[in-house]
Amino acid sequence: MSEIYRGIKFKAVRQGEWRPGADEKKVAAQLFSLKDDYRQWGFLDLNGGNFSGRVPGGCVIKRTGAYLENLQPTDFSKMTKLSGETVYFQGEYPPSSECRSHFLIYQKCPRYNFVFHAHLPGFTNYEILAGPNCLLPDQPYGTLDLARQIANNIMNSQFVLLQNHGVFVADETFEAARNKLSAFYEQFRKTKEQIALHGRDFS
Ligand SMILES: [Zn+2]
Repeated sequence: MSEIYRGIKFKAVRQGEWRPGADEKKVAAQLFSLKDDYRQWGFLDLNGGNFSGRVPGGCVIKRTGAYLENLQPTDFSKMTKLSGETVYFQGEYPPSSECRSHFLIYQKCPRYNFVFHAHLPGFTNYEILAGPNCLLPDQPYGTLDLARQIANNIMNSQFVLLQNHGVFVADETFEAARNKLSAFYEQFRKTKEQIALHGRDFS
């Protein structure tokens, strides 16, 4: 992303400890396993994107200030409510700086239960990669406005790309969302390969 990461842009209101039940623990463990995929796919930059899963009363999401390189199983919070510039959560730390995009997707798309967001460090050829999929213009990360744009487009696009920033995918199950991100990675890899071979005008 062209803007330097500078933490959360919302007011975070802590609603006490997060005591995950069995289902929430399972979701957190599934999300934690993504760190290996992200590493393998090269989706690593300073904070490494973020991921979440819907649970009753909100979503389990990677916390702010946790980095993929040394992510711990406890680096998750539960986001319980969104009210404009205020995010409510349970846990030790506020949820990811981009949590409002996740929360709005769950609100707008009842079918989706997992949302994954990855960064593409060093990549610039977003128009080629996007193809027929949604590509949103370069803009500051983590704003409510950007969250709305992502949520409004993700139902009608295999994935939503954010210019000079990264990608959002969402789906019904953990496996389906992971498969979608894996398919995106393949497209990303092939696009980079084609550009390296033929330049930007290979189509
Ligand atoms: Zn991001």
